[in-house]
Amino acid sequence: MADTLFTRIINRQIPADIVYEDELCLAIRDINPQAPVHLLLIPKQPIDMLSNAKPEDQALLGHLLLAAGRIARQLGIDGAFRLVVNNGADSGQSVFHIHIHILAGRRFRWPPG
Ligand code: 5GP
Repeated sequence: MADTLFTRIINRQIPADIVYEDELCLAIRDINPQAPVHLLLIPKQPIDMLSNAKPEDQALLGHLLLAAGRIARQLGIDGAFRLVVNNGADSGQSVFHIHIHILAGRRFRWPPG
């Protein structure tokens, strides 16, 4: 897979506000936040979209969810937050390097728009 925007952020070729990092993933503040807290949790191993993830990605995908919970606790938003994964352009995906949006700090409607 060619380098993505997020790979360049992970490699420190493009600056970002990094709030969490471990051996498998990185969380940054979204440049265009849709809530008072809006993070992007990104695996260092690029997968273009969730629907293309493979069985061997199971541990990494589980790691991301556990990391999301850990980050929420660290930021004090663990009482209420929303995770979003856009899959495909029609769902709103614009960066084809899988990522989980972590949103918090306001009330969210259901169903989502
Ligand atoms: P998607 O639309 O693919 O689900 O989410 C991509 C997200 O990346 C968007 O919310 C967008 O605001 C964010 N984004 C795009 N370019 C940059 C950037 O250069 N830096 C950061 N921090 N976020 C970005």
